[in-house]
Amino acid sequence: MNKKDVAKVLEEIAILLELSGENPFKSRSYENVARALDQHEDDIETLVKEKRLREIKGVGDALEQKIEELVTTGKLEYHQELRAKFPDTLFELFGIPGLGAKRIKQLYEELGVESLVQLEEACADDKMKDLKGFGEKMRQKILDGIALVKKHQGLYLFNRAWDEAVTLRDYLAEDKSVIRIEIAGSLRRKKEIIKDIDILASSKHPEKLMKRFVEAENVERVTGHGDTKSSVILKSGIAADLRVVSDEEFPYALHHFTGSKEHNVAMRQRAKDMDLKMNEYGLFRGEKNVKCKDEAAIFKELKLPYIPPELREDMGELEVETIPKLIEQNDLLGLIHCHSTYSDGHDTIQHMAEAAKERGFKYMVLADHSQSAAYAGGLTPDRVREQHEEIDALNKKMKGFRIFKGIESDIRSDGSLDYDEDVLKTFEFIVASVHSKLDMTEAEATKRVVKAVENPYTSILGHPTGRLLLSRDGYSLDYEKVFDACLANNVAIEINANPHRLDLDWRYIKRAKEKGLLFSIGPDAHRVEGIDDVAYGVGIARKGWLEPENLINCMPEDKLLKWRSHR
Ligand SMILES: [Zn+2]
Ligand SMILES: [Zn+2]
Repeated sequence: MNKKDVAKVLEEIAILLELSGENPFKSRSYENVARALDQHEDDIETLVKEKRLREIKGVGDALEQKIEELVTTGKLEYHQELRAKFPDTLFELFGIPGLGAKRIKQLYEELGVESLVQLEEACADDKMKDLKGFGEKMRQKILDGIALVKKHQGLYLFNRAWDEAVTLRDYLAEDKSVIRIEIAGSLRRKKEIIKDIDILASSKHPEKLMKRFVEAENVERVTGHGDTKSSVILKSGIAADLRVVSDEEFPYALHHFTGSKEHNVAMRQRAKDMDLKMNEYGLFRGEKNVKCKDEAAIFKELKLPYIPPELREDMGELEVETIPKLIEQNDLLGLIHCHSTYSDGHDTIQHMAEAAKERGFKYMVLADHSQSAAYAGGLTPDRVREQHEEIDALNKKMKGFRIFKGIESDIRSDGSLDYDEDVLKTFEFIVASVHSKLDMTEAEATKRVVKAVENPYTSILGHPTGRLLLSRDGYSLDYEKVFDACLANNVAIEINANPHRLDLDWRYIKRAKEKGLLFSIGPDAHRVEGIDDVAYGVGIARKGWLEPENLINCMPEDKLLKWRSHR
């Protein structure tokens, strides 16, 4: 055992004492000794052997014994006893920078957070805003900390990687030598989880652009520096590659480095069948390169319609006659599934509505939490009535915008919704979601969800699997059964646009579309900024081949109401 190991145990004891509600001085004395250890020049085993532990500032009888036990036996009874009082998963929080004993205690006691997953969930749903000392800055810091802890997994949520890639691309594009530049790879395909950033550029002076790349401010270290390819690790931990090609080669390289691998294999096979050869350098007939000025020209040469990057997953995109006109963000007329200060949202209904209107939306379906979700300020029937009065008043005031009375109703364990019928019938829309008891078998989960879908008051099935990307797989569902139930009961399926969720998974969307289901992109916004998450939902909807006609958000008000009444 070295000093670092001992310090870590002492620090953990300090946190555990604080969590146990012990005298704060006691906790601090462990913290102080942990810190003082570092400043002693001799190694800890020598200090124990020579009985000199008391030379360390703050070490008295009790601590001397404990450190001795720890160093000689490799463990400490006292530490283990303390640990046993708390769930094992709680210790995942100890590694997060910025989360000291006091904050962990608050999260644990006031929000019931006892694992990394729950912490991330609390951040995503903005549950900690009422805790003392937890502002938006702290929330961001914790999210950064969680990302850091996950860094070793080498995987990132789309939004994190995307933001970094855009910054990098824009910074590189300022170089005058750049002719074309694009973010390629899985980011361009809008995958929900990203491994690294791929940027492709054409330039008259590759070496100049490469220099700019490796010298970028957010680069932590350079792992490769060449004329055509350079690789770096960014400060966030994400690996990024820049490839620079001639402008003639750019379209072929862009297609190649956008992937997916499976799509590229299928494309190369198609080229082969037409006596062509395709690779990152060109499209060759014999020795001669078939000149293509952009990707569309390559597809045309292969007698294919232009295939948008989101569809390049070898899920039938080469086999169809025409590619659907995929949904774009400005096709969305309505913002469906937002929270307000009535439950666990950060902003008032009016603020949310004004922000939605400003962004060009025509209506908003408010969906605060229902009464079972006590931790999230779920609405009692009285609060529901109050909220409806406020909505009526706002609707009279706001011109050219409508707020619909909705609720995100918990689906109880038995599949029922969270209010009596006399309350349920007062809502214009009900998003039914599972928030509790997620450890179900596929059969149980399917039964529960199907029952909720069959409830005549349900309009939308919210985040269908409850997954949290990179932290929690959702419960398994029998998708065919759930889709059939939605279809039979005219219930739309949500594509939850929160970047931590992106649930329903795009891999199932195309199948559900073919069955004739309708979808709803739900930002699940808990604050004004959360509204902009719809962009991630649009990316996923596109990956699922959706067109405007497949989404209830694209219906104008009257059509939406007609759809709802058609049950
Ligand atoms: Zn929810
Ligand atoms: Zn929600």
